Amino acid sequence: MPKWCCVLAMPEIKPGDPPPSGYLQWHAWARIQHHAGLRQKRCRMCGLWRFPQEKCCTTLRKERRGIGEGNVVSVPDERGVKGN
Ligand SMILES: [Zn+2]
Repeated sequence: MPKWCCVLAMPEIKPGDPPPSGYLQWHAWARIQHHAGLRQKRCRMCGLWRFPQEKCCTTLRKERRGIGEGNVVSVPDERGVKGN
């Protein structure tokens, strides 16, 4: 019986980083975002759950109108201080 081993190469992920494209990479990324205090919110347009830095219908529409928040995501740290 063959024995298999999968090695997943991951770049360094920080809270607030944009999501990676791979499925397994996304789950590793999401775990780090959740540990950092970021929470998913449900999109009012399509009903999908998204982290604040993930683009979805609402954010894409805001960006088109020029009132988007860009990639700025406030991540609460251990001292409870929010960054800008
Ligand atoms: Zn959406």
